[in-house]
Parts: sequence; C-alpha cells; structure tokens
Amino acid sequence: MSKLCNNNPAIILKRLLDMGEDEIVLHLGEGELEDEIIDEPMEPIPMQNEADRIQKNTSDSKPNTNDSVLLQIPSTIEELEEEILADGGCRKCDLSEGRNKIVIGVGDPKARIVFIGEGPGAEEDKTGIPFVGRAGQLLDKIFEAMGLSREKGIYICNIVKCRPPGNRDPLPEESSACMPYLLNQLEIIKPAVICCLGRVAAQNLLNTDATLGNMRGKTHYFQGIPVIVTYHPAYLLRNAAGKKPTWEDMKTLLGIAGLPVPKP
Ligand code: SF4
Repeated sequence: MSKLCNNNPAIILKRLLDMGEDEIVLHLGEGELEDEIIDEPMEPIPMQNEADRIQKNTSDSKPNTNDSVLLQIPSTIEELEEEILADGGCRKCDLSEGRNKIVIGVGDPKARIVFIGEGPGAEEDKTGIPFVGRAGQLLDKIFEAMGLSREKGIYICNIVKCRPPGNRDPLPEESSACMPYLLNQLEIIKPAVICCLGRVAAQNLLNTDATLGNMRGKTHYFQGIPVIVTYHPAYLLRNAAGKKPTWEDMKTLLGIAGLPVPKP
C-alpha cells in the first residue's frame, strides 16, 4: 500500500499501477475532498477510458512496496527526459526496437499551448526533434503568425515518442504504454489548451473513432484541459485549402489561451 499525496490523480494512479500497487489510500485533509469535487471541471473528461487504457498496460508489473518512490515522479521536463532516456532509453513498447532516437518534445516548459502529433517520422527519428522537415517548417510559420514560437508559449510533442515503422499509426498498446509520459508532460507544463494535429493524434488523445471533420470546430477536454483539433501540417502541404480553417483553429486556440490574436 502506498500513500498518495494530493497531486494529479491520473499520473499518480498510473505510476502506482506501474509499480504493481493493488491498494491505494488517498490522503486528503479535512475539507480537501470537498474542494477536489468542487474543483472538478464541468466538461466531460475521459477519465474512465484513460483508466481502462492504463489498467490494460499494467498487468505484467511486479509489486513495489517502496512508499517513497512517489517522490521520483518527474516534476520538470528535464527530469522526465532523464527518466525516459535512462539505461539506453525506454523499452515499454515494441516501438523501441526500430527507433533511432526517442523524440520526447521541444518547446517552452511554461507553454500556454501544447501541440500534439501522432508520432515521430523519419526526420524526427534521426534528429530526436518533433516536427522537423517541411511539415515542421510550415508549423513554425503558423506559430510565427500566432506571435509565438517553440521558444515562447508553445511546446510540441507526440502521442508516442518513438517512430512507428513505415509511419503507420501507433497501435493502441503503444499509445497506452507511452501515455504516462504525455500525462507527465501536461502535468508539468499545465497548458491552457491543447491542439491535436491531425485525426490520429486526436483519436488517441480523446479515445474516439470520430473523424477529423467531426472533431474540428468543437472544444473537447482531456484531463480537464480544453482540446482543439486541427489539420496536420503535412496535410496542409498537400491541401492549401485547409490553411484558412486551420487559421480559424489557431485563433480559437489563442482565445482560449488568453493570448492576443495578431492582425493578418
Ligand atoms: S513509444 Fe513511448 S513507451 Fe514505447 S518505447 Fe518509445 S518512449 Fe517507451
């Protein structure tokens, strides 16, 4: 049994399940439980789906009775990177076998907006940096038009941190295995809003089979954080007509983040 401090429950639950814990006690002070309930967002959060995915991925874990291990949860992006890269790099799923570099994420650790793609491609796998190449350059131009950059206001990462072979979509077990890292990134950064780049990223994050057309133009929620879905920049390279609606999505993002919308 481990003591569970009041922090992000999804991350802590995942870490405890990873460690093989089968009994968890939530320690809250008097009145804190009520506060926790009152603080729950009014919008629907896919917590049950997330818990189901987490549980599926933890069946082989061995018990660990060290209560102090909770202190090891990374509280900075640097600590998280160290954890993922330790001992030759994470091997929690089969994507580790074909990768060259783990592509964890780049950007402002205090970003107001986190952009999430589906997974690294060939260039990203070579460099260890998300969204490089022509699609990445287009994304950087979009950031510039927003008055932001990878250094200021924006963080970019993917659902899975290792390249799926042949650029196929991540498998459910791969995205489940990697999800704790994304949860940890979001817990550290605490963005005002998330932007999913493309259908696959959005379907994995929101645990849905909805089409991109059905997801665009609406505000979704993940762990209480607003989520906007837009086109993947690689799609925009092939379909210029998608640029105008993408800019509308960027204006929505800026509005939710409380940032000014630059004049065109
Ligand atoms: S994709 Fe994620 S979980 Fe799988 S090996 Fe890479 S870092 Fe680990």
